[in-house]
Amino acid sequence: MRKFKTESKKLLDLMINSIYTNREIFLRELISNASDAVDKLYFRSLTDPSVAVGRDDLAITVGYDSEARTVTVSDNGIGMTKDELDRNLGTIAHSDSFEFKAAQAEAAAETEPGEAKGLGDLTDVDIIGQFGVGFYSAFMVGGKVRVVSRAIGSDEAWAWESNGVDGYDIKPAERAEHGTDVIVYLKDDTDEESFGTFATEHGLTQLIKRYSNYVRYPIKMEVTKSRKIEAPEPAEGEQPAAPTWESYTEVETINSMIPIWKRKKSEVSQEEYNEFYKTDFHDFEDPARTISVHAEGSLNYDALMFVPSRAPWDMYSKDYQRGLALYSANVLIMDKCEELLPDYFGFVRGVVDSSDLTLNISRETLQHNGQLRAIARRLEKKIKADLASMRDDDREAYERFFEQFGRTLKFGIYQSYGMAKDTLADLLLFYSAKQQKMVTLDEYLADAPAGSDAIFYAAGDSRERLASMPLVTTVLAKGYDVLLCDADVDEFCMMAMGTYGEHAVDGDDESKQPYFIKNVGAEDLGLTTEEEKKEAEEATESNAELFAAMGEALQGKVERVVVSTRLTDAPAVVTSEGGVSLAMVQVLKSQPGA
Ligand code: ADP
Ligand code: MG
Repeated sequence: MRKFKTESKKLLDLMINSIYTNREIFLRELISNASDAVDKLYFRSLTDPSVAVGRDDLAITVGYDSEARTVTVSDNGIGMTKDELDRNLGTIAHSDSFEFKAAQAEAAAETEPGEAKGLGDLTDVDIIGQFGVGFYSAFMVGGKVRVVSRAIGSDEAWAWESNGVDGYDIKPAERAEHGTDVIVYLKDDTDEESFGTFATEHGLTQLIKRYSNYVRYPIKMEVTKSRKIEAPEPAEGEQPAAPTWESYTEVETINSMIPIWKRKKSEVSQEEYNEFYKTDFHDFEDPARTISVHAEGSLNYDALMFVPSRAPWDMYSKDYQRGLALYSANVLIMDKCEELLPDYFGFVRGVVDSSDLTLNISRETLQHNGQLRAIARRLEKKIKADLASMRDDDREAYERFFEQFGRTLKFGIYQSYGMAKDTLADLLLFYSAKQQKMVTLDEYLADAPAGSDAIFYAAGDSRERLASMPLVTTVLAKGYDVLLCDADVDEFCMMAMGTYGEHAVDGDDESKQPYFIKNVGAEDLGLTTEEEKKEAEEATESNAELFAAMGEALQGKVERVVVSTRLTDAPAVVTSEGGVSLAMVQVLKSQPGA
């Protein structure tokens, strides 16, 4: 017997003993693997003339034996050699993200011994699909799993067998054709799942429809049907006998196969979209938005995109991989094609399917693929338009969205040095000190006093503190609104924007000027009249001695002391000159390496 590697053993323990809530996904995982195996073979057949398989011959078959309590998932895909069985099923993919989650689960299990608490969190992230350990989910329901496989082009078959505890055996076996059978010997405690015993026709068909409906290869299963047998014509003078029913079995394709993204939006219910999203993108919540695109013309493609309701737990970590799944003529090219999404829409999940892309497209050629870039540009416009209509039509939902992903949008403006401003600026929300709610920049301007030529904001780490800052109350007292920016990225975003929109100067439509975005803590706000300025200068001059003394007392701490035109109630304020506010200086100082 070959022993499992230590990490694998720990992982197996965790999988088998901890994740009980959703055991039924084992079927989805095995079917996905079967579909992958068939896809791989199909892909090979396109490039290798010695592999002669037709697409129509490829299939997945699900079988069961209620007596023996087994479920079998078979495919006539690429198969595995003895070495591949050893390598692919003997070690579980190592993953830093997994270790992270496993450590969390361990910690949670330690604090609440004997309780399932904490493990609920684990299922929220659905580690099975996410971390490439799908196969092992079979041990959640199986006390023993046997895999019989024959690789394409080989005349040997091998059987891998394990009880999921200590290790596994690989022995010679028989298989007529290339492909793989995964036989799961169900544990005794699997009878009371949502669909009854897994090893039943009803249970399996329900699971296939629910989780694997869009698998693009037929998933076949023998199902029981019944037909009416008409009684023979009655003899003369006799009553006709009642018809009888006869049951028979027939192999049927259970899944719909037609990818949901290829169907017209009007023909798909929101429930179907939600189910697809949750299954394929491993989320437990319905998406906030569903965006479906069917493009025909110079560029043919279908896209189905979703805005999640909640940012995934790793969204803001380096490990987060953005991108849309890219299919070409129904063959998966890439799980996460980054080029299809700009960074600032990286939270969008979805699928793009284009028959225009060449089949042998590879990672290297992708970056130079003009078609792909063109698709990406159009999708970006679609996403923008959808978010804008959510902003206008369902403000409550939009504010929830912004809470989750607003930071990404603001970061997008900052990171692009303002280049993404045209796309993103009107999607931003900030807290208005005057209106006491979140407003867009356009709403800010709509509410601004006539003749305004600027947007004012204050940046700091607390809205309450900002609201009571003398620099803010002064501006408010003059009738202008101030946006209170309490997120770390806000000031960077505002500075990267610099200006927003435009307005006519002195009623002259010919000479338009942008609104300048001004930090109340850093800039001359242009709110002082010449007279007030003169007064302040005079006051500074006539008190020159006093200010010199104050400057001396605060030596090294302040640059100079002057009479301010910016204060109403407060006697004094510490401020900076130039573009950088004191709040920004704080942020910069806290950066590593500063
Ligand atoms: P993942 O599917 O994310 O790679 P799994 O744990 O589900 O992870 O499967 C591990 C590996 O085992 C697969 O990547 C594949 O190489 C191999 N494998 C599993 N099932 C099959 C199958 N039916 N046919 C061929 N290879 C398979
Ligand atoms: Mg898998």
